[in-house]
Amino acid sequence: MATATSTLQNFIDGEFVDPVEGQTEPVLNPATGETIAHAPLSTAADADRAATAARRAFDEGWAATTPAERAAALLKLADAIEAHADEIAELESDNAGKPINAFREDEIPFMVDNLRFFAGAARCVEGRAAGEYLSGYTSMIRREPVGVIGQIAPWNYPLMMAIWKIGPALAAGNTIVLKPAETTPLTTLKLAEYAGEVLPKGVLNVITGHGDPAGQALVTHDQVDMVSLTGSVATGKWIAGAAANSLKRVHLELGGKAPVVVFDDVDMATALETIAGTGYYNAGQDCTAATRVLVSSKVHDDVVGGLVEQAQGLVMGDTRAADTTLGPLNSSRQRSRVEGFLERRPAHAEIATGGREPDGPGFFLEPTVVAGLRQEDEMIQREIFGPVITVQPFSDEDEAVAWANGTPYGLAASVWTRDVARAMRVAGRLRFGCVWINDHIPLASEMPHGGFKQSGYGKDLSMYALEDYTVVKHVMVSLA
Ligand code: NAD
Repeated sequence: MATATSTLQNFIDGEFVDPVEGQTEPVLNPATGETIAHAPLSTAADADRAATAARRAFDEGWAATTPAERAAALLKLADAIEAHADEIAELESDNAGKPINAFREDEIPFMVDNLRFFAGAARCVEGRAAGEYLSGYTSMIRREPVGVIGQIAPWNYPLMMAIWKIGPALAAGNTIVLKPAETTPLTTLKLAEYAGEVLPKGVLNVITGHGDPAGQALVTHDQVDMVSLTGSVATGKWIAGAAANSLKRVHLELGGKAPVVVFDDVDMATALETIAGTGYYNAGQDCTAATRVLVSSKVHDDVVGGLVEQAQGLVMGDTRAADTTLGPLNSSRQRSRVEGFLERRPAHAEIATGGREPDGPGFFLEPTVVAGLRQEDEMIQREIFGPVITVQPFSDEDEAVAWANGTPYGLAASVWTRDVARAMRVAGRLRFGCVWINDHIPLASEMPHGGFKQSGYGKDLSMYALEDYTVVKHVMVSLA
């Protein structure tokens, strides 16, 4: 476990090693602002070392393992996470500022389930056809691993995003260089430790450090066949641009600005509890957070009042305490970014509650509700990624759909109504990769997660993710 004095290392070719250029930087606990470890500031030399190891592991055997062998390894990794759940929860709570109980109860079981799903899925990969499509020849379709995958993760769900990436990639027979976000490397390095016990050397490598230079070096490395990013739209565009030179494959899970479309016939108490619960979950640092509420003007004031009450009922503070329900922002930089939206708010905006930093250490921000905004306002158009819920009144279904679709993002949305026909109609018109009806945020390992529009392309979770990490090959056999 990391302590204030521990200096972490990269994990390359089955071993923990110092960064080539020897530099490290402090890793903070965002709930206290204190240094809890030091992590490598990797450079192009580390990316090269890791990509070379991953290439060798791919060429020397991982790609040729049987699905059963890969499934067995993923099952062992899932068991290791389950067995070390308490230790992992402490690390992630301290490094990412997550209330420990929520992480323990929500994220750990889901990550374990994700890995077990991909263990099973590894054994179900199949080509679609085998037959004689040209006289005298038999054709077959093989789904093969892409090769070496560069995977780049964000800081909001450090370990869960790492699991979402490595599960399908390993199941398909790829090898990996994984880079966690610079502020949250602790649990990803712990994952590397467990992986070292169940995977051959070089199959999973972890380097820590910043987008520039470590991430960029990985993206542009000639031994990396595909890049998978969960991160911001700006980084996604940079990666897609860089990949244009080599035509390597790109898998992008980017930002979101989830609309929550509430009609006046809902069970209001349930709706408010769920919207606040999923809007402020993880301090709103969730690409699908229920933070952009569009509500029938008939119930607008009730919704604003109800959300204010919910926000004021949250408990901020010690992330290790059982009753804490709202953690800090992940960094001082992220808190300043969120505060910037509030400071720049237009005169017609009304902060109904919150908006201030509480007294004490850490990067906390009060849970906030903002009413009175217009569709073109920055707080409606751009991802805030903090504990800020906005509420806009709509006059009818067409306006609700137009506003819901009226941002550059398309990751997730929800529609709230008891009218089944309206729910289905609106769900069909919403241009998002996932639409929930009368709920927000539940996920299943079997179902895909991924965006439309500037929320990116490629899917996490499900057989669709596994397919994204494969290439289709046609093998044609002459019968002569
Ligand atoms: P970010 O894009 O700044 O950083 C994400 C990762 O990319 C980090 O590891 C960072 O070091 C790396 N990076 C930055 N620039 C890079 C570059 N040029 N080349 C290679 N790597 C680079 O994003 P963030 O602020 O850390 O994360 C929050 C964002 O992630 C939000 O926009 C959020 O919506 C998004 N997100 C999306 C999903 C999803 O499933 N769609 C899930 C979680 C988070």
